[in-house]
Amino acid sequence: MNTQDINRRIRLVMDLRTKGVRDANVLGAIERVPRDFFVPDAVKDQAWDDMALPIGRGQTISQPVVVGMMSQVLEISDRDKILEIGTGCGYQTAILSKLCRRVYTIERHKYLLEHAEARFEALKLRNVTALAADGMKGWPKMHGIEQAPFDKIIVTAAAKDKPPQKLLDQLRVGGMMIIPVGPSGEQVLKLYKKETEEAYSVRDVMPVRFVPLLPDIAEDAEARSQMAGA
Ligand code: SAH
Repeated sequence: MNTQDINRRIRLVMDLRTKGVRDANVLGAIERVPRDFFVPDAVKDQAWDDMALPIGRGQTISQPVVVGMMSQVLEISDRDKILEIGTGCGYQTAILSKLCRRVYTIERHKYLLEHAEARFEALKLRNVTALAADGMKGWPKMHGIEQAPFDKIIVTAAAKDKPPQKLLDQLRVGGMMIIPVGPSGEQVLKLYKKETEEAYSVRDVMPVRFVPLLPDIAEDAEARSQMAGA
């Protein structure tokens, strides 16, 4: 790592501190995970700025302050098993993998998932399990093994009016879920806490802008039209 690279990382961490990301573990993870490794060549020189950037298939890598806030409010411990919906380029996944015991992550675009998995491999992130599927249905039982309930759930695409019921079901009692909710232009990051099997508390964290949660696995035709529209 050269001096310029170190300076950029320190500048980003200081910027995020002033914007309210104070958790030392979260800031440490943001400093260590090479965000430039997760973005296309065309935008690599902006990788250490606090900006959302395009990652292909009409999708974006979230702004670092949003990644930091979402990670911070979940109060992640190194014993947590986390479910993430919307792997995208895998950057948020990589941050989580430094903070918790295990991350299960789901992405509906196979192309994005394959590239994200190659990055996890290259960075030797051994506690990540990735799957191409519709994350609104939660993590499926595989080979007779049920991974739910999860300690924390993080959704990085926006639900129109409420979180998918299946995800609330897969949260353990006492667990927390962070998810953007609302129509385009009016989304708010909401933190749900599962107080009992049936009761949740909810609080608003901050206004945000995310791509929408969409059903099913993406077809290539959809990916192409999104690229054309991007
Ligand atoms: N966390 C990502 C940013 C994700 S952008 C990062 O750090 O790069 C949101 C992602 O959610 C997109 O890649 C989109 O394809 C995905 N997505 C939308 N609906 C989904 C669903 N139902 N299941 C899984 N992934 C979904």
